[in-house]
Amino acid sequence: MDWQLRPTERYWDRSSSTERRKVWVRHTQHEAAMGTPHRVFKAPSGTSNKGARVVSSAVVTLDGSQGEGGGQILRTALTLSLLTGKPFRMTKIRANRDRPGLRPQHLTAVEAAAELGNAEVKGAAVGARELSFRPGVYEPRDLMIDIGTAGSTCLVLQTLHLPLAMQAVKPVRVTLEGGTFNPKAPAFPFVDSTWRAHLAKFGMSLSVVMPSAGFYPRGGGQLDAWIEPGNPRSFIATSRGPITRIHGVAGVANLRPDIAQRMRDRALARLAQYGLAAEIELADWRSPGQGAAISLVVEHEGSVPATFVGLGERGKPSEVVADEAVMELLAFESVRSAAVDAHSADQILLPLALAKGHSEYTVAEITEHLRTNVATIQAFVEREISIVEPHGETPGRVVIGG
Ligand code: ATP
Repeated sequence: MDWQLRPTERYWDRSSSTERRKVWVRHTQHEAAMGTPHRVFKAPSGTSNKGARVVSSAVVTLDGSQGEGGGQILRTALTLSLLTGKPFRMTKIRANRDRPGLRPQHLTAVEAAAELGNAEVKGAAVGARELSFRPGVYEPRDLMIDIGTAGSTCLVLQTLHLPLAMQAVKPVRVTLEGGTFNPKAPAFPFVDSTWRAHLAKFGMSLSVVMPSAGFYPRGGGQLDAWIEPGNPRSFIATSRGPITRIHGVAGVANLRPDIAQRMRDRALARLAQYGLAAEIELADWRSPGQGAAISLVVEHEGSVPATFVGLGERGKPSEVVADEAVMELLAFESVRSAAVDAHSADQILLPLALAKGHSEYTVAEITEHLRTNVATIQAFVEREISIVEPHGETPGRVVIGG
């Protein structure tokens, strides 16, 4: 892939972006600029809809090397600590990763959760392997969060979403800056087409837009989310119908447009080999950096769309990027009655563990992320969650609440 800058105007070019300090402010300036209502929740404690949440003193202890041993253990703990009021102490943070300890994206999630939840935090620094987090009583409010690097905005949004939605009485707006296309994390198209659609099924409404795309190393992407107040409802999805549509976007930021065309053409050709037709749009994203990605969304009768993303890299041919997205889609199709894709499987577990009643879904794959999230959730809430292993043609299954 050719990473030369196009000789056209670049948007959002901030020469000092790599030196940018993390900005942590309440969301006060957007109201006039964006013409959207600004809501800062200033009601005294106890006057929000759920203000009676109890702050507990029993400390949950977590070993960050367990299972997947990545950042998800920390993010799930932050979400549940805010929601349950239980403080936690975590050791061996991200012990199974090449660069263990907190990375900027994880530190931002901690700081954002602490800011929102009036929490006392000990040990929060890049590289830290241990952390204590003690939440206070909080009122949801609009937030603006700058990760300061290309770290994933989508993962930080997922960390804060439930504590905001489940405690709010009015919609809340969150603006995040950082990466919107990250390897091994939900990319913006996944959040927009799949995560949001799952939440809608659970009765939780959310809108998202990406005014600017953020890629490694430059970052500087923007994700704006409008979160409606709501509590998750239970969800049953144990099969899926035939494919009704495949669509997607092949996009570049500050790269030659033929890169996007090559990704689209390759994806269409590969899908056609398997008898599948798709509509793929081309996009030219505004961004302070350079990047390329293709997303493919597959819709089936009676189930939530699944999204697969191929991400460009310097030196990686456009065709390989397209093949990655197509191969993931085909792998999902090969597990015939899986209602939920492998990535959504671990991400929807948390809202469903908080929903009243019985939830159940079949999954394309039982990942270590899924197993690890079960253990982390059960450290905070008493909930029966079982994983039924796949056998023969029968896919794996997650059962929540007996
Ligand atoms: P690290 O792996 O460096 O610790 P991390 O914070 O990204 O960092 P993980 O524990 O690996 O932490 O969690 C990654 C999350 O991103 C998981 O919820 C996983 O399902 C999700 N994810 C990974 N790849 C994709 C993808 N292609 N599409 C959607 N979601 C993804």
